[in-house]
Amino acid sequence: MSDVRQQPMDTDAQPVGTVDAVVVGAGFAGLYMLHRLRERGLSVQVYEAGSGVGGTWYWNRYPGARCDIESMDYSYSFSPELEQEWEWTERYSSQPEILRYLHHVADRFDLRRNITLATRVTSAVFDEMTNRWAIETDRGDVVSATYLIMATGCLSVPNRPTFKGLDSFTGPWYHTGAWPHDGVDFTGQRVGVIGTGSTAIQAIPRIATQAAHLVVFQRTPNFSMPAWNGPLDPAFQRQRKATYREHRRQARESAIGVPVEVTALSTMSALAVSPEERQREMESRWTYGGFRLVGSFNDVLINKQANETVAEFVRQKIRAIVHDADVADLLCPKDHPIGTKRPCVDIAYFQTYNRDNVTLVNVRHAPIAEITPTGLRTQDAAYDLDSIVFATGFDAMTGALFNMDIRGRGGKTLKEAWAEGPRTYLGLMTAGFPNMFTMTGPGSPSVLSNMVVSIEQHVDWIADCLQYLRAHDLRCIEPTVAAQDLWVGHVNEIGNDTLYPEANSWYVGANIPGKPRVFMPYVGGVGTYRKTCDEVAANGYQGFTQSP
Ligand code: FAD
Ligand code: NAP
Repeated sequence: MSDVRQQPMDTDAQPVGTVDAVVVGAGFAGLYMLHRLRERGLSVQVYEAGSGVGGTWYWNRYPGARCDIESMDYSYSFSPELEQEWEWTERYSSQPEILRYLHHVADRFDLRRNITLATRVTSAVFDEMTNRWAIETDRGDVVSATYLIMATGCLSVPNRPTFKGLDSFTGPWYHTGAWPHDGVDFTGQRVGVIGTGSTAIQAIPRIATQAAHLVVFQRTPNFSMPAWNGPLDPAFQRQRKATYREHRRQARESAIGVPVEVTALSTMSALAVSPEERQREMESRWTYGGFRLVGSFNDVLINKQANETVAEFVRQKIRAIVHDADVADLLCPKDHPIGTKRPCVDIAYFQTYNRDNVTLVNVRHAPIAEITPTGLRTQDAAYDLDSIVFATGFDAMTGALFNMDIRGRGGKTLKEAWAEGPRTYLGLMTAGFPNMFTMTGPGSPSVLSNMVVSIEQHVDWIADCLQYLRAHDLRCIEPTVAAQDLWVGHVNEIGNDTLYPEANSWYVGANIPGKPRVFMPYVGGVGTYRKTCDEVAANGYQGFTQSP
């Protein structure tokens, strides 16, 4: 795996000893948080484990990596000037383009001078006497801060393979979430890809065109919709830029952070329309591309029978695309309702299985037994491989927080406080951990949304909150246990009213052995959530204790 310290480093800042706020992470969230807090006159120190800014887009450089929310939505809205000057080239931007954009943001807003790179925060301890956090890094820095803001990402800790025999493998292996910066040339190689989530679904078509032979080891097939990616029409881009403010407003008030087309049928139950109408609605959404299909009807995520109509539509598409009927059948998801694992968006994923040099292996039926010096052995066959790609996902939502030794009141660790699943108020703060904010944390819409919209909302809310505290000469804010319990109860209740908990997804922690099974994000929608957060603030930060 690539070592960040061997990568060329961006110029970075030297840390300082005492600041108003430490921000951990320099992805979309950390960069904008730094900008807003500095604008409000706070001194800020950002730490980033990577050798460059960009977060997700710094680490995930695998072939085919790109966003699956359209570029003109998957971007900051806080600066109309930035919005107007940046030109996206494709409907769904590639990783290099998104990373260039984030570098541009870092330069344009002069952010680098407060970011220390290649430095991992290892611990953060709250001192109840001084109401300050003591933050330590793997480089031995110790910084004292009033506020601690975790912009550590929901998908930033790779789920590293623990397969027996991995050390014995004589070829190179890679995790997609820590991809080498100078790329990988698979030409002429026999390559194995483990996993068929969003990442693998993007990487497989690209690796297949390079490798001599590609073997895909699939445990669970996924629903995927076509991106129909292509160059962004300049006329469309001009038109969107002319109406950006209104478009962004709609995004903020929407359910998932993207304005979605509402049709007469999409406001109805899938079961209340005729089969012909149903087919027409789904066809039109499939033709548009992306996630839209999941919003075909108003009960897709709450009614199993309604869900099944959409799921079967996708299965029929798979069967129509994939020539070999057995392979097609193996690629058809049947064990979870569509949308309950994050749906994937692809560029010719299913078509890839029509290539002669691609083999699909069912490791649900015969699990991977071990990695051998020359390849991989499942319970019923051996595969010779020159290199292996682990597209095995992430320890989502809590992984990055638990990687640090975070101690709040009475020395209690965050791990202890969240032993039975994350407990937050509004996904923003946790009782017993004063002045510590979790951006896009469990209990907020987070990974169920266009994350840039959710990130901006959290940044603005936190910045306003800190300004309020300063204006009222308050030094300490913390949710009450009662407010937190109510919020957790609400998050669980509305989550349990949906089909989400039925899937063994990373949303419920099912991909990490031992993780408590809790549906972590807030399913009530971005617009509703924003309103709740704004009301809490308008009511003098209701549910939070505040002290001098
Ligand atoms: P990140 O970008 O994950 O940044 C967090 C940073 O914190 C990382 O750089 C990490 O190194 C750093 N960090 C963590 N712990 C520490 C520590 N202890 N010390 C120092 N630094 C630390 N979302 C969408 O809405 N649409 C998409 O199309 C989309 N595509 C995605 C594609 C991929 C391949 C992946 C993995 C995720 C995608 N996501 C998408 C989710 C994506 O993570 C968010 O959109 C967004 O980039 C998150 O930004 P962030 O700043 O919150 O976190
Ligand atoms: P993922 O969705 O968690 O997929 C991981 C895959 O690895 C799954 O197919 C999983 O199978 C498999 N796997 C894990 N351990 C395995 C094992 N021991 N043996 C066999 N198979 C194993 O991870 P991801 O694909 O990296 O995506 C994570 C999230 O990142 C996405 O859901 C999305 O939010 C975001 N993302 C977005 C994009 C985009 O299109 N913009 C691209 C990449 C990622 P099981 O399902 O059986 O566990």
